Amino acid sequence: MRRIYIETYGCQMNVSDSELMLGVLGREGYVRTDDPVEADVLLVNTCAVRDHAEQRVLGRMGELKRYKRPGDVLGVVGCMAQRLGPKLLERVPQVDLVIGPDGYRGLPELIARAREGERAADVAFQGWEHYEDVPPVRDNPISAFVTVQRGCDYRCTFCVVPMTRGPERSRKLADVAGEVGRLAETGTTEVTLLGQTVNSYHDGEHDFADLLRAVGAVDGIRRLRFTSPYPTDFTPRVLDAMATTPAVCEYVHLPVQSGSSRTLRRMLRRYDRERYVDVVAALRAAVPGVALSTDIIVGFPGETEADFQETLSLVEQVAFDDAYTFKYSVREGTPAVRIKDHVPEELKTARIGRLIELVRRIARRKNIGLVGTTHEVLVEGPAKRGALLQARTRTNKIALLEGPAAWIGTYRRVRLTGTTGSTFTAWPIEELAACPSPT
Ligand code: SF4
Repeated sequence: MRRIYIETYGCQMNVSDSELMLGVLGREGYVRTDDPVEADVLLVNTCAVRDHAEQRVLGRMGELKRYKRPGDVLGVVGCMAQRLGPKLLERVPQVDLVIGPDGYRGLPELIARAREGERAADVAFQGWEHYEDVPPVRDNPISAFVTVQRGCDYRCTFCVVPMTRGPERSRKLADVAGEVGRLAETGTTEVTLLGQTVNSYHDGEHDFADLLRAVGAVDGIRRLRFTSPYPTDFTPRVLDAMATTPAVCEYVHLPVQSGSSRTLRRMLRRYDRERYVDVVAALRAAVPGVALSTDIIVGFPGETEADFQETLSLVEQVAFDDAYTFKYSVREGTPAVRIKDHVPEELKTARIGRLIELVRRIARRKNIGLVGTTHEVLVEGPAKRGALLQARTRTNKIALLEGPAAWIGTYRRVRLTGTTGSTFTAWPIEELAACPSPT
């Protein structure tokens, strides 16, 4: 039996792509191993969004090559592979193959060639590729990522994704609904639809509103999530579908990147601060109680203290439940490299510290306000530490509770009894039926 070890970095799309690669190689008789020592094929699925992520992968390659026995194959796949292509073969002599996100169905062939001693890179874009015939191999039976769109047609000036994932294309609605139907038949009750700008989904006939309704109508699907939407793609139709599809959870990750309209313009985001705030208001009107998180970049070239203050004030104004904060990282080939007015590293570090402090303070204030309220949770598994179980509310809050392992995969009503500021402790009140319409 041949064994494959995959290490995945970056976003949920990469997690989903690793499941696809396991599907491609599963058809060739490979099984997954979590131990690189026993693997015949070692793959690192990479992210290219920040330089730090790439440096980490290069460091990791240095470690993984130690596990490579004669005849084993070491490969780099994903966005960094796409960005660097054959240069990676030159840079890391132990690497046998390099494959970008559109080339995964060629894995068996490149592995076979590597065994013959040939090192190769495949980083061609395939604008039609959806891997429709490849059944992903997932290890979470309860909750599944389902990719509905690949690539991106937006051109945010800081972002390398259009260069690594190619043009945007959407799967056919019937194919997505079919896949979700098969997942539901085997016990999956929660799905997260993935796309780079997922709410711009359009398969030529159906838009994202149609998709939400179709997936939400699949028998057995109790929770429907999606990530990441683009703020201005929340059309009235999409908002209405969210409001009227019971499975759609009350949580949206809504990347803003900056609170300064001047910076947003230079980032080539397609909204200004006011428009973003309008989208937040529309979401809150359509989905009462919706929790919001965001992505924010600090230190974009030319960002002044006044621009940064605008970001802080937007965070206050919207009162996000959470925010993923990043220091701007120059990405070769992106339009922003031409903006020369770079923010010094120490200033970026100071700003991100101030931002994180504010984000945590707001999240803590909101979470303290939730203590004592009751929620439906999905019990996901053992907590990372201790003997408790980890569960998640529809609003994406993590709650830890006592209970038997048999509760994993079930829905329960709980009362939130305390908070660390970010996560909660909870008291179980009652079990909820396996999968009725969500309450
Ligand atoms: S919308 Fe902008 S930030 Fe998001 S993937 Fe596309 S180019 Fe990158």
